[in-house]
Formats: sequence, C-alpha cells, structure tokens
Amino acid sequence: MITLATVSPCYNEEEVLEQSAAHLTALFDNLIAQGKISNESVIVFVNDGSRDRTWEIITRLHKQNARIRGINLAHNVGHQNAIMAGMMTAKDWADAVITLDADLQDDYKTCIPQMVDDFQAGNDIVYGVKVSRTADPLLKRMSAQAFYRLQEKMGVNSIFNHADFRLMSRQALEMLSGYKERNLYLRGLIPLIGLKSTTVDDHISEREAGHSKYTLRKMLNLALDGITSFSVKPIYYVIYLGIIFLFISLGIGIYVIHAFINHTEVPGWASLILSIWFVGAMLMISIGAVGLYIAKIYEEVKQRPLYNISQILD
Ligand code: UDP
Ligand code: MG
Repeated sequence: MITLATVSPCYNEEEVLEQSAAHLTALFDNLIAQGKISNESVIVFVNDGSRDRTWEIITRLHKQNARIRGINLAHNVGHQNAIMAGMMTAKDWADAVITLDADLQDDYKTCIPQMVDDFQAGNDIVYGVKVSRTADPLLKRMSAQAFYRLQEKMGVNSIFNHADFRLMSRQALEMLSGYKERNLYLRGLIPLIGLKSTTVDDHISEREAGHSKYTLRKMLNLALDGITSFSVKPIYYVIYLGIIFLFISLGIGIYVIHAFINHTEVPGWASLILSIWFVGAMLMISIGAVGLYIAKIYEEVKQRPLYNISQILD
C-alpha cells in the first residue's frame, strides 16, 4: 500500500479552499477504505503569499484534520515555484506526490485513483492530459493550443495539453531536485527526467468558486519561459532574418545601380520611411530576443532560492 500526498498551490483561494479540502478528504477516506492508499497519506496546501485569509483557513483545517498539512511561503513566488516548494517538502512524507490546482478544476475523482494504479504498475510519472477543456474560456483554449504548437516548432519536448496535474514518485522527485534552474517550467523539465511514464485522461471542469489567478501577464511570462528555457531556436531565427535582409538589400542595391546608370530618378520618401521603421522594428525584436537569453543567464548565475518557507504545519 502506498502513502500518497497531494500538493496544491493556493494564491488568494479563500473562496474555494474549504470546499476543495472537503472534496479531497472525502476522496482520501474512500481510497483508504478501499485499501488503495495508506492512512498516513496527506493533503498538502501551499500558501503562495496570499493576501486574503488563505493561510488562516489552512491553519484551521489542519487543526481539525491532521491529514491536512500546510506550507506557508514567505511571499508570492508564483504557481511553478509554489508547486516546487510543495513537492520538495512532501517527498519526505509520501511515496508519491500528486500536484493539482487548489480549485480542483481537474477531474481529480477519476484521475487520482488511476494515477495511483499506474504508479503501482511501475510508472514513476503519470501526466494528466486535458482531453476536453470546454470549461475554459475560448480565448484561453485557443491561446493554449497555439502555444503548444509553437513549443513543438521550437523543439521543446513537452507533453501536449498537459498542465501541472501529475503524479511523481519519490525517486522522480529526487531526480527533479537535481535540476537547479531558477526559471522553472516544470512541464518542460519533468519529461527530461526520463523515467517510465504514462498519461491519464483529464476532463476539465469549471472553478467551483473564486476566479482565475493566472493573469495574462503571468501566462505570457510562463509561455516565454517555456520556450526560452528549453530552446535557443529564436536566436537562430534572428540570424536567418538577418541573412534574408542582407539578400533584400543586395536586390535593392542592384536596382539603385541600374537606375543610376540609366539616369532614371528613384523616388524616395515612402520606401525610405517604410524601410527605416521596418528594419528598426526587426532590430528591436532581435535585440529583445537575444536580451531575453542574457536576462535568463543573469537570473541563473545569481542562484537565488526559488522560495522561502516560513512555516510548515505537519
Ligand atoms: N497560483 C499560485 N500562485 C500564483 C498564481 C496562482 O499558487 O501566483 C495557484 C492558484 O491558487 C491555483 C493554481 O495556481 O491553485 C492555478 O491557478 P488558477 O486556477 O487561477 O489558473 P487557471 O486554472 O485559470 O489557469
Ligand atoms: Mg484553475
């Protein structure tokens, strides 16, 4: 029988936390009664520097039910780092850790028992893969699809339609702790571990309460991390762009010399102003792309901690 831990990051989740805790507790009781998981299994909530009553609620839940444990982070470090904090702490408490969002949008009721079965069948990593996400807003669905495609083009080896709902064995977590990067993009990083893995189908539902904590800016930053942390192709594209521009300028050069020999006048303003702005824009994008990688190097060399834990309720 395995000891299981679930890890859920919480940022301003006061509206949904109690319900989620109750649902997970009911599921755990069920699985324990069936003899699937041990009675030592725990439900872990990581408070990611919330500004509402989230930590207060976690503390109360822990007092009422010893199965529920809490990790309080010193400040908001974001979804990915909060998950990391939870996994690295919970790996000492359980044989396998399942990460899932605190709003329980994932189909935890069917997926968690399946993940446990797959773990017992010898898989070290089990990915939850979204097969239908009709509950997500259309724009979010479309941008997510476009992003997965773009990642694929850039050569990032990640699981299509998998967000951070997954099971990992203690061994896989030990290996993950060896990856020391600061700009965490777990969905790209975990497939690099290379242990035996499988997937389960996940049907997304709507949030029971509260609203999404992923702002457009956070999503965009995650998307950029997802590409720049795993692929240097954008820099190659900059070079290709430069080569294309070189050929275009050669063409223009030949045209100008031809006009000069034939004493024809080349009219100027429109083409001039257009090329100045166009080339200017391309230069800025190119410098930005290169700058992005330099910024990443800068962040990595400082080796700052990913998170600070101020309190653990165990
Ligand atoms: N979250 C977090 N830190 C943040 C933002 C979000 O820990 O800075 C948590 C949040 O509490 C939730 C999970 O990450 O448990 C996913 O966020 P959300 O459900 O708002 O995103 P969505 O499902 O809309 O993508
Ligand atoms: Mg959500």
